[in-house]
Amino acid sequence: MTALVVGDLEFQVRRSDRRRTLEITIDRDGQLLLSAPSTTAPAQLERFARAKQFWVYQKLAAKETLPPKALARQFVSGEGFPYLGRTFRLLLVPELDVPVKLEAGRFKMRRADAVDGHAHMVRWYAAHARPWLEARVERYAGRIEVQPGRLVVQDLGYHWGSCGKGGRLYFHWKTILLPPRIVEYVVLHELVHLIEPHHGSAFWQRLARVMPDYEARKAALAEIGRQLP
Ligand SMILES: [Zn+2]
Repeated sequence: MTALVVGDLEFQVRRSDRRRTLEITIDRDGQLLLSAPSTTAPAQLERFARAKQFWVYQKLAAKETLPPKALARQFVSGEGFPYLGRTFRLLLVPELDVPVKLEAGRFKMRRADAVDGHAHMVRWYAAHARPWLEARVERYAGRIEVQPGRLVVQDLGYHWGSCGKGGRLYFHWKTILLPPRIVEYVVLHELVHLIEPHHGSAFWQRLARVMPDYEARKAALAEIGRQLP
C-alpha cells in the first residue's frame, strides 16, 4: 500500500486487479482507505480523493459524535467516553467504591471491572439518564401543559424515545450521550406526542412554540441517527 496525501488528509491506497471502481472507506480509528483498480493513474486517484474531500470531512466529523462507537472502544485508561455531548477520559483504578464513577472530569473504573466495562458503562449511563430526563420532562411538560405518566429508560433499539399507554414515556439510555440541546428536543418531541399523536402540522407548530429552533436540533439528531449501525 502507498500513501496519497490530499490537503491534510492521508489516504492509504490499496490497488487490486479485481476492482473496477474507486472507493473511499473510513475505518473505526478514522484511517482513510482508498481502494482502486490496479490500472488507475496516480492523477486519477488524486482527482477522486479531492472530489471526495468534503464528504470525508463530514464523515470524520460525524464519527466524533457517534455514540455507539464509544461503547465499542476498549476499556483502557485514556479512552474517551461521551456524556451529554462531552467526552471524558477513562481512568482505570485499583480500588473504587462503585464500578464506575465520573469524578474530577474523568470516568473512573475499577481495573477488575474493565472486562465487563461495557455493561458497567451502560448501567452508569442509564442511572444518570433517569434524573436528567425527569428534570427535563417536568420542565417541558409544564410548558405545554401535559401530564406525563411514568418515565422508562431502556434500550429502545433504533428509537431515541417513544410514548405509550397512560402517558408513559420511554427514552433510550443512549440519549444521555448526546448534547443536552439534542436530548431536550427528544424529550419535547415525545411530550408533544401525548397531545398530538401524529407528525402533522399541528404537532410541529406546538413543538415550535416551545422550541423555535427545533429544526436545527432535529437535523442534528437525524445526522447522528444516520451513523447508527
Ligand atoms: Zn414522533
